[in-house]
Amino acid sequence: MQIAVLSGKGGTGKTFVSTNLAAVIENSTYLDCDVEEPDGRLLLHPVSIQTEKVTKPMPQVNADKCIGCRACVDICRFGALAFLGGKPMVFPEVCHSCGGCTLVCPTKAMEAHPHEIGTIETGTSGNMEVVTGILSIGEASAVPLISAVLKKAKGNTIIDCPPGSACSVMESIKGSDYCVMVAEPTIFGLHNLNMVYTLVKLFHKPYGIVINKCEDDYNLIDDFCKKEHIEVLLRIPFDKQTAQDTARGKLAVRQNAAMKQSFMSLADKLRERTKK
Ligand code: SF4
Ligand code: SF4
Repeated sequence: MQIAVLSGKGGTGKTFVSTNLAAVIENSTYLDCDVEEPDGRLLLHPVSIQTEKVTKPMPQVNADKCIGCRACVDICRFGALAFLGGKPMVFPEVCHSCGGCTLVCPTKAMEAHPHEIGTIETGTSGNMEVVTGILSIGEASAVPLISAVLKKAKGNTIIDCPPGSACSVMESIKGSDYCVMVAEPTIFGLHNLNMVYTLVKLFHKPYGIVINKCEDDYNLIDDFCKKEHIEVLLRIPFDKQTAQDTARGKLAVRQNAAMKQSFMSLADKLRERTKK
C-alpha cells in the first residue's frame, strides 16, 4: 500500500503522523516529499546514508550554432525563453524542462545540460527505509525532485507530502492508494483542511482524517467530518510530554506504549481500507 499523509499547512502534525505510522509498519518505506523542509529524518535518525544528486535537463543556447529562427521561443508554453538581440535567452527559474525547444531547434543550437535540483538521501531506521528529498536552495520547482523521490517507493510506503495544496502536493499524492489528511481542531485548522479535502476529492482518492492535538472529545473537525461523511481514523490527544519528546527528536511510538498502540490501530485500518 502507498499512503499519502497531507495537511493544509505546516505544523499540523503531518510529519509526526507519517513518521510514527511508518515506524509501526514492518519493513516500511518512509518517503519525505516535503523537500523544502524535510524534517522526518530529525525524528527517524536514519543511518548508513547514501546520497545521490538529482538533475533535470536545462536548455542552453550555443550561440555559434544559433541562426536566430525563433522556433524555440515560439514553442515554449512557459514563457521561459525571450528573444533578445536576435538570439533566445533562457530563464531557468521558469523552465519546466519539457524539452520542446531542444526538439524544434533546426541546428541543434539549443542544448540540454544537466542542472542540479537537489539530493536524495537513503538510509535505514530500525527495519524501515528512510528516503529524504532535499531541494537545492533557490530552486523554483519541487516537482521533479518529488517525482524522483517517489520512484523509491517500495512495499508499504508512507509519503510525507509537502504542506498545502499546490502542484508539489498533487505530484506527491497522484500514485497513492489512500490519503490521510491531518488536521488540528481550530478554525484555521478547519480552513486548511478544507483546501486539502477539495484536492483529494479532485483526485478521486479514498481518504480519512487524523485529528491531532485534540483537547476535547468532540470538536469542529468532528462536525466537519460528520457533515461530509469522512471517517475519523485516529484522534491524537494533546500531550505535553509527547510535544517535548518530539521537539527533542524522539519518536512518540518508541517512547509511549499507548501512542504505539494508537498508530498500530491506524496502520490496521489503512491495510483494511487499501485491500484490493
Ligand atoms: S525546456 Fe520547455 S519550458 Fe524549458 S525553455 Fe525549453 S520549451 Fe521552455
Ligand atoms: S530554435 Fe535553435 S536556431 Fe532557432 S533561435 Fe532557437 S536556438 Fe536559435
